[in-house]
Amino acid sequence: MERVYIGLGSNLAEPAEQLRQALVALEQLPDTRLAAVSSFYVSDSLLPGQPRYTNAVAALETGLEPLQLLDALQAIELDQGRERHERWGPRTLDLDILLFGQRLIDEPRLRVPHYHMHARAFVLYPLAELADGLQLPDGRHLSELLAACPFEGLERLQP
Ligand code: ATP
Ligand code: MG
Ligand code: MG
Repeated sequence: MERVYIGLGSNLAEPAEQLRQALVALEQLPDTRLAAVSSFYVSDSLLPGQPRYTNAVAALETGLEPLQLLDALQAIELDQGRERHERWGPRTLDLDILLFGQRLIDEPRLRVPHYHMHARAFVLYPLAELADGLQLPDGRHLSELLAACPFEGLERLQP
């Protein structure tokens, strides 16, 4: 089993409810245990003119291989009505693999660690709730990334 961190995001159709439904689906994945879930955080969209986002991070213990997990996550996204139009468009559900153990993956369909996690407050702060002291496969510490990424603009919801 490997420890995997998933970034969840939604800004359509009751985002918090979308995240809760996705967590139920993650719990039901084969050969996988949902180990922990962060608080939910709300923030403005990085692109103007979109509804605000709700984000969280989940920790899984899984025996699935990375591409099997990606397939399963994309099936959950589709099941919850994810449509892909423009890049970074509004969405009912986004499930990104942030970290997969200490693996470095660079394939056309899957890059891990997630290429932009180091700069996204809505990823780093929820991740820090679950993984205090985490070190990325490239040696960087989560604490360094947090120090370079202001909390500003994030609103942590009460669980
Ligand atoms: P961003 O990647 O900037 O967060 P996004 O999540 O909106 O944007 P998607 O439309 O969800 O992007 O995904 C586009 C493609 O990214 C997917 O089809 C998937 O194959 C690929 N991808 C590459 N690395 C990852 C990863 N670590 N987790 C999830 N998808 C990934
Ligand atoms: Mg994403
Ligand atoms: Mg995605």
